[in-house]
Amino acid sequence: MRILLVEDDRMIGVDLSEALRTDGHSVDWVTDGLAAELALQATRFDLALLDLGLPRKAGREVLRALRHRDDATPVIVITARDALEDRVEGLDLGADDYLVKPFELAELKARMRAVARRHAGRARPRLSNGTLTVDPATREVWVEGREVTLSAKEYAVLYALLERPGAILSRRQIEERVYGWNEEVESNAVDVLIHYLRRKLGAGAIKNVRGAGWMVPKSGA
Ligand code: CA
Repeated sequence: MRILLVEDDRMIGVDLSEALRTDGHSVDWVTDGLAAELALQATRFDLALLDLGLPRKAGREVLRALRHRDDATPVIVITARDALEDRVEGLDLGADDYLVKPFELAELKARMRAVARRHAGRARPRLSNGTLTVDPATREVWVEGREVTLSAKEYAVLYALLERPGAILSRRQIEERVYGWNEEVESNAVDVLIHYLRRKLGAGAIKNVRGAGWMVPKSGA
């Protein structure tokens, strides 16, 4: 997932971004509300983790503005404030979930998966098109029941494609999903990742749609 982390506490920010990157997510980290707002306007994120107490612009104002322009980017509010009114206000302003600091990483990850499921309109925890299956909780991947091992970037590409089997993702869309702002992206990086994925998953697992991008076939197709 491409994640925007909005957190002004350096220690939490470093810990969280490292932990999420280790899981293969691409994480862009900003430390104030204004930067968060600019980032959300410029880039499509799969998830924002939003602290409420922020310099320059309060988290609640960032959230309010986001929903005001009908941006449905999933948001999990992470904050030290545990007052009931803050939780209720956060949810009513359009947060998808709420986590009070300090929290366990395992709980945050489980909530991230749940939010991603709801956002995609899925009830089942696993992504599958019948041939390929991904378990976001364990990051295991199977091809017709056979488990395969993918690198973090390969996993990120497959996850993005398998979220909507049959839908084409362009090179640009895949790059946005897989790489953060500070990462150098070679012009053929996506082709290389697709090449390795096909070697591991089978040549027909990912289809190239000439001039448009790539897709995984719908189940039964
Ligand atoms: Ca804060």
